[in-house]
Amino acid sequence: MTLEKTLLMIPGPVNVSPRVLRAMAKPVINHRSPEFGKRTLEINEMLKKVFKTNNDIIILTSSGTGGVEAALANTIKAGDKVLVCVNGAFGERARNIAEVYNADIIDVNADWGKAISSKDVKEKLTQDTKAVVMVYNETSTGVQNPIGEVGEIVKQTNTLFIVDAISGLGGHYVGVDEFGIDICVVGSQKCLAAPPGLAFVSISSKAWKVIELNKPRSLYFDLVRAKSFLQKDPPQTPFTPAVSTFYGLHEALKIVEEEGLENWIKRHEIIAKATREGIKAMGLELFADEKVASNTVTPIKYPAGINDKEFRKTMRTKYLVEVAGGQKQLSGKIFRIGHLGTVTSSDIISTLSAVEMAMNDFGIKIEPGVGLSAAQRVFRG
Ligand SMILES: *Cc1c(COP(=O)(O)O)cnc(C)c1O
Repeated sequence: MTLEKTLLMIPGPVNVSPRVLRAMAKPVINHRSPEFGKRTLEINEMLKKVFKTNNDIIILTSSGTGGVEAALANTIKAGDKVLVCVNGAFGERARNIAEVYNADIIDVNADWGKAISSKDVKEKLTQDTKAVVMVYNETSTGVQNPIGEVGEIVKQTNTLFIVDAISGLGGHYVGVDEFGIDICVVGSQKCLAAPPGLAFVSISSKAWKVIELNKPRSLYFDLVRAKSFLQKDPPQTPFTPAVSTFYGLHEALKIVEEEGLENWIKRHEIIAKATREGIKAMGLELFADEKVASNTVTPIKYPAGINDKEFRKTMRTKYLVEVAGGQKQLSGKIFRIGHLGTVTSSDIISTLSAVEMAMNDFGIKIEPGVGLSAAQRVFRG
């Protein structure tokens, strides 16, 4: 679309502030210079505040999946017992990574659209469980898993708690140290509204003890090596980082600080509620269990007879709002509204309005504005 006005309402990557884009237009500098090292340390300190942790944070030039792979490649030996929670596409992906590293996988499942039960985790946890792997915010289904409860259980054991919080941290309260998360993975392109390309991995001292005894099973994702480079003077990364994206991230984190993390999260919470109320008022059905609904993505069931590709094409080309489809077994059955990062109430009003109009184009009769007024009532409080 040549207008460059399309609203990007998918669960990552998200709309990026022009401030962030301008920060990225600065000249590329030597990634081993004191200047870049200083910037890296600043980013690291800012990330620690967002993660609510005193643990080390390693910044990887990779998408979020690379962060999850780094977590497993550094902690899991072939044959290690790993409990993997699966209730959606990203849980499946974590499981696939555990398979690649030849873990002895113990499954904890829940229906897609429902949360994992911490009781099930507790029941399957044994003394020789090396790690519990859980996706916090399952982006494919719009469900939050109970990381606080599971953290409380795993904390008491020698098992590591590895969390994919890629689309959750920043949109929900996540206290990495408080919850006892040993390795927490976040991606740049989700709630923190930076461009895609970076993954952040926080590592507790309990996890370092395991990692340091292991032979790393990845050269690029060797976390011990990454830590030793971070401790150099000036601080560095083992390999060339995405320098411009670091600049963008720095500016994006400044924007989070200016709003304040608490307000940033609260905004996600209100917008998610407004989205759900708007959708329900239209007579459409939410996919996820509302008790555990995500603050960052809302999946919606298609009424019978609507073609997913056609619907989303109408949304994109006629109303300039880009929403996401369903993944895996949900493909064609749902569409997903991503509302994370710098998303505003007017973004949601525009999106809901586009949904009403597009549904009308496909013969679904919705009273004009009914979703908008429901959403506005939430915003008014
Ligand atoms: C987006 C996302 C990922 C990672 O995606 P990448 O494309 O590798 O950045 C992983 N897990 C969850 C829960 C996500 O939302």
